[in-house]
Amino acid sequence: MSVIECAFCKGKGKDPFDLLSKLATCQVCGGKGKVEVIEPAIKCAFCKGTGVYPHDGRVTCTVCNGRGMVTVKGETEGCPECKGTGIAMESGLPCIKCGGKGVVSKR
Ligand SMILES: [Zn+2]
Ligand SMILES: [Zn+2]
Ligand SMILES: [Zn+2]
Repeated sequence: MSVIECAFCKGKGKDPFDLLSKLATCQVCGGKGKVEVIEPAIKCAFCKGTGVYPHDGRVTCTVCNGRGMVTVKGETEGCPECKGTGIAMESGLPCIKCGGKGVVSKR
């Protein structure tokens, strides 16, 4: 487990989009500005590590839950389905094969 800066609020602890109010705390880190990730973790391919859902731009990424990092297990390789982007070609939703991480476990 390691503690990283919250990607969604960039470590500020505030809701970056002022959805509720200017004083609202970040829903991802609960206002702490830091989040815990289970190692080994890689940058989330779907949101490119921003923690923000790419198509909406105001909600948390569903792949990494706003952390910007995702946990991977064991040896991984680039997902052949989405070419490592984490985005399904037709739908624009997280890739079904890799779950939006952009990598799949090596077998
Ligand atoms: Zn945050
Ligand atoms: Zn993400
Ligand atoms: Zn994929």
